[in-house]
Amino acid sequence: MIKFTDVSKCYANGTEALKDINLEIKDGEFVFIVGASGAGKSTLMKLILREEKPTSGEVEVNGYNLNRLKRRKIPKFRRTLGVVFQDFRLIPTMTVFDNVAFALRVTNVSNRIIRRRVPYVLGLVGLSSKARNYPTQLSGGEQQRVSLARALVNNPSLIIADEPTGNIDPEMSLEIMELLNEINKYGTTVVVVTHEHDLVTKFNQRVLVLKEGEVDSDELDWRP
Ligand code: ADP
Repeated sequence: MIKFTDVSKCYANGTEALKDINLEIKDGEFVFIVGASGAGKSTLMKLILREEKPTSGEVEVNGYNLNRLKRRKIPKFRRTLGVVFQDFRLIPTMTVFDNVAFALRVTNVSNRIIRRRVPYVLGLVGLSSKARNYPTQLSGGEQQRVSLARALVNNPSLIIADEPTGNIDPEMSLEIMELLNEINKYGTTVVVVTHEHDLVTKFNQRVLVLKEGEVDSDELDWRP
C-alpha cells in the first residue's frame, strides 16, 4: 500500500517538484504513472523508495511511515518492495542465476532456499534456459526480465518499475508490460512509470497523470 498525504517536495535549489500530492494505491492494484519530462515522476518514485524525504506531508509505504523511518530500518523496509530500473543494473561478472541469487545472498538466505527460489522466478519470467549465461549474452528484453526476476525473488508485496521499457525495443517492451500484468494477477501491487502511451492504452489499468508537480488526472481507461 502506498499513501501520500499532502506531500510536497522542494529541492534545495528551490524547485518545487511535487505540490500537495494526495494519493492512495491499494494492495493488489496496478498503476501507471505518466507525465511529461520534469512533471515529477522520478521524485515521486524517490519518495516511495525513501531515497528522498518530503519537504512536507506524509508518505506511507507497505505499512511503514517513511517520515519516521530510522536510517537503520531502511534496508528492512526496502526488502518489502522490488525495483526494476530502466538500465537493468545487472552485475556483468555474474551469471543470470547469480544476479538473481545475489538479492537473496545479501540477506543471508540459505543455499537450500536459493536453489529452489531462483529457478522458480527465472521460470516465471521465461528464462530458465539462460541461468548460466552472462548479462552481455542476452538481449535487452532478456536482461530486463532478469532484473524483473531479481525484483521478484524476495517475494515483495510491491513492484516499482521506473521506465522499465526505456532501453528495449517495442516488441520486447510489450512482453515486459505483459509480465508485470501477469505478476499483478498473482496479487503483487505494481507501479510503473512510463512515457510510452501506446503501451499504457493497451492495458486497461489505472493511470495517474502528473503535470508540473501535481496530479492532473487519475482514472481508468485513460486516453492521451
Ligand atoms: P520527471 O521524472 O517527471 O522527469 P523529476 O521528478 O525528475 O521529473 O523532476 C521534477 C522537477 O524537479 C524538475 O523541474 C527537475 O528539474 C527538478 N529536480 C529533480 N531532481 C532534482 C534535484 N536533485 N535537485 C533540484 N531539482 C531537481
